[in-house]
Amino acid sequence: MQKEKLYGKTLNELIPITKRLGMPGFAARQIADWLYKKEISSIEEMTNLSKKMREILSNDYEVGLSAPVSSAESSDGTKKYLYKVLNDKYIETAYIPDEERATICVSSQAGCKMGCIFCMTGKQGFQGDLSSNEILNQFRSLPEFQKLTNMVFMGMGEPLDNISELLKCLEILTSDWGYGWSPTRITVSTVGLKSSISEFLEKSRCHLAVSLHSPFDDERRKLMPVQRTNSVKDVLDIIRNFDFSSQRRISFEYILFKGINDTPKHIKELARILNGIKCRINIIRFHHIPGSEFMSPGMKEIIEFKEALNARGILTTIRASRGEDIQAACGLLSTLEQNKGKQS
Ligand code: SF4
Repeated sequence: MQKEKLYGKTLNELIPITKRLGMPGFAARQIADWLYKKEISSIEEMTNLSKKMREILSNDYEVGLSAPVSSAESSDGTKKYLYKVLNDKYIETAYIPDEERATICVSSQAGCKMGCIFCMTGKQGFQGDLSSNEILNQFRSLPEFQKLTNMVFMGMGEPLDNISELLKCLEILTSDWGYGWSPTRITVSTVGLKSSISEFLEKSRCHLAVSLHSPFDDERRKLMPVQRTNSVKDVLDIIRNFDFSSQRRISFEYILFKGINDTPKHIKELARILNGIKCRINIIRFHHIPGSEFMSPGMKEIIEFKEALNARGILTTIRASRGEDIQAACGLLSTLEQNKGKQS
């Protein structure tokens, strides 16, 4: 029988386990300490629990870490790791070193339901939600774990479509009994799901990144089917009602498609709809995917677009493209082949 995994459980989930097993009241905190601060990988290593308690715990539980099954390295130093999840599925995780910063880009689902037409993950469809164990295992079992400074939920899947597991991960990452990270080291990216964006904003203090890609309804609907039920206007209304006066940052991701969303009309409309929101726009160069007719504008046009937005008072940056040669860059993650049983 498969044992239940302790890694990925919050303190509030560990407490009833220890109570049920007749362990002392402080045992849950001790276990959290071993899992998230002392970084052990087996119950046997939890040496401040009595031998008997470790045996009782081991009957039904295990720590539950699993190493990546393969990796690839880009010429720019970015690495992509393949993890097995949901018994027989695979997901990808990117490690992006950059001078003082070392960022992990984690996946929250195997595949994705959102179907954005510029994204390889969207094309592979949805295979399942990851558990908090499977999400945080990407972080803990990363060979470069000790070097990590930042985490972005921008890998495979829509994090807010798996909000209960996402919130558990954020709690473990930012609690004093967990990793104790500042929430400002973590960014959650979303297409803007109305049903859970408020919950995320209320229950966490992590940064929010909303995938915008067009300020016009019709155009965005063609790029991102989610616009049919979650319009940008509704999402912006939710954001406007939130207090972003803390260190929390709100940014809008904008992939530039040549001749589609890169015109002066778009700049004007972006400035209009974002008026009054303290935010930044992050421009992303489009990375070509098979079968797509989209093209990226040249770097000169990308810089001009950025400067035009800056001139209108919207802080705009260009996100460096990383890991394109190993399909680790934005929009390129896919495990379609591995999920079909052709693991490379
Ligand atoms: S861009 Fe994000 S939300 Fe859209 S299909 Fe890809 S993984 Fe899903």
